[in-house]
Amino acid sequence: MITLSFHGAARTVTGSKYLLTVNDTRVLIDCGMFQGRREIRQRNWQPLPFDPATVDALIITHAHVDHIGYLPRVTKLGYTGPIYMTPPTVEICELSLRDSARIQEEDAEYRNRKKLTRHAVALPLFTEEDTEAMLPQLTPVLFDQWQEVNDDVRFRFHIAGHVLGAASVEIEARDGERVVRILFSGDVGRYGNRLTNDPEEPPQVDYLVCESTYGGRLHPVMVPEFAFTDLITEAVKDKSVLLIPAFAIGRTQQITTMITQLICEERIPAVDVYIDSPMAVSATDIYRRFPSYHKIPPEELGGNSCSMGSDQVHLIRKRKGSKKLNDLDGPAIIISSSGMLTGGRILHHLLNRIDDPRTTLALVGYMAEGTLGRRLLEGEGEIAIHKQPKKVRARVVNLTGMSGHADYNELLHWLEPITQAPQMTFLTHGELDSCEALAEHIRSERNWPTMIPEIDQTVELV
Ligand SMILES: [Zn+2]
Repeated sequence: MITLSFHGAARTVTGSKYLLTVNDTRVLIDCGMFQGRREIRQRNWQPLPFDPATVDALIITHAHVDHIGYLPRVTKLGYTGPIYMTPPTVEICELSLRDSARIQEEDAEYRNRKKLTRHAVALPLFTEEDTEAMLPQLTPVLFDQWQEVNDDVRFRFHIAGHVLGAASVEIEARDGERVVRILFSGDVGRYGNRLTNDPEEPPQVDYLVCESTYGGRLHPVMVPEFAFTDLITEAVKDKSVLLIPAFAIGRTQQITTMITQLICEERIPAVDVYIDSPMAVSATDIYRRFPSYHKIPPEELGGNSCSMGSDQVHLIRKRKGSKKLNDLDGPAIIISSSGMLTGGRILHHLLNRIDDPRTTLALVGYMAEGTLGRRLLEGEGEIAIHKQPKKVRARVVNLTGMSGHADYNELLHWLEPITQAPQMTFLTHGELDSCEALAEHIRSERNWPTMIPEIDQTVELV
């Protein structure tokens, strides 16, 4: 008997965890953290509906926290087997989870010290020690190579685009004489992106688990280069400082490469770009080590004038260098994390500059509900950063068109090569309205049966 259980990213976008059971074999696909609203985050602390010690293999699609952020916890709870992922994903995982553990420990310590917790003691979901203990289990597997879990289950990775190393997973499960093929989309990227490879054609399968983050939306056709050109030209003219909050892995490299290319093509004046994030600097090294996994030519990551290594780009690891930026006069661009202004060095820059009308804050990408990024986007006039009230006098702009997720047209385009209708297409990794919208598109355009599983629902794959 083959069953599939949806223990995360079911009618929500985080906490991806799908348990595939093939007779006695159990494989967990993705192991993400629940993020966002409190009631969703609390799921991270509830007991798992399965015993991790009984799982035979863990397969990871890509290194975003909503797909990997529960790994040190699941190993602490007893999972001892291999954790398969592509080689760049291994490295990003190490970087990202070490950082996540450190932040959680610091945060718990701060909450306990300031008595800010509702609990007796604030605890991290996992510690640096838990993370270090888990890392030896990470097992790299190349794209397009079949990897056996055992005689009944094997899998291979297909390029999903989205972020460095991101994969869709094709699984072949053997139940006696019967062979069932299942494809897990992972997060599907976009076509023609300057940074990531295009998603690869999906194989023919019996069952499909498809993400629906933007299942109900189309991305605006706005070309980000044009918006950046205008914004930076203005900033240079006004001698102002442009602050860009950005995720350290992927988004920072995407923006920096775009800016340096615009300088090189003389579409904007030469302006200094400060990347103030130790993690972004380390992540750039990972891009350098995996040249075939993305579209940035190697010379653009090295010491060339149109590159991350350009004279215009200043990489800042140390806190001292970060503090020095407080005295910086424009024109200049500061890129720092976190992307949604939920923490990190960007908050110090914001504290220093948000009440200065010569500052422009450019928000790129998705700002989740309740984050400082979302509140500024909605035009809040006064905010508090580290408990210090500040008037918002800086200009706040929203730059769209840089999403790393396919919209529904791109998802339908990605699905085109699947000519035979899968027996069932499960729509996951989206809010309910997005899943429903994508289900409708798939029904009307392809006439495929679809299903939107509930959290912890189990379905038999017959
Ligand atoms: Zn993702």
